[in-house]
Amino acid sequence: MIMNKIQFVTGLHGDEKLPIIALASINEEQVVANTLALAKNVRFIEKDLNASFGTSGMSYEERLAKKLVRRLDKNKLVIDLHTNQSMNEAFVIVVDKKMIPFASTLGIPKIVFMKYNIKKGYSLIDYFAGVSVEVGKHFSFKSIKNTIRIVSNLNKPSVKRVTLYEVFGKIDKQGKYKNFIKCREGFIPLFAGKNSYNCYGLKARIIKQL
Ligand SMILES: [Zn+2]
Repeated sequence: MIMNKIQFVTGLHGDEKLPIIALASINEEQVVANTLALAKNVRFIEKDLNASFGTSGMSYEERLAKKLVRRLDKNKLVIDLHTNQSMNEAFVIVVDKKMIPFASTLGIPKIVFMKYNIKKGYSLIDYFAGVSVEVGKHFSFKSIKNTIRIVSNLNKPSVKRVTLYEVFGKIDKQGKYKNFIKCREGFIPLFAGKNSYNCYGLKARIIKQL
């Protein structure tokens, strides 16, 4: 049974609460990562926890990342759940193309391969086999529904049709971008508008329809 081979991780960012509530509402097990940041309702205390895996610093999040590494099971795949400020549509993020078949079973039709790695190789899924999922906006009911949809799909796994995108750079100019819709400059914007990456968003392109 696939559910025995999966571990949900939530709250890597303290301002992303709905996936935690969604899993709790259906009694699904989860590892809630940054409880201090959650209590303070901030993204992080000192450093982005999802860029703190395998680094050598001593910040609050870097010490927490080491504790999480010990807590998580190396033999299970991670599904790391996030919300964001700008995108209602859910999508799965992979940093290793080997995870694409697994990502295709979650019932979410968009998969984004981070070719240009914004976390510089120190995100949770750089460290553990698995995927991250952006389930929607921070305070949208869709984020709860999308999280529950993933659990239902895992309970009856089947490969669905997906579109595979790759992120190849940062957007460096301001513009009227619509996420997942190809812009005049020829790329597909992701996280356009307000985001947590100190840029105007990320540039993606479609690499395959599967
Ligand atoms: Zn996040």
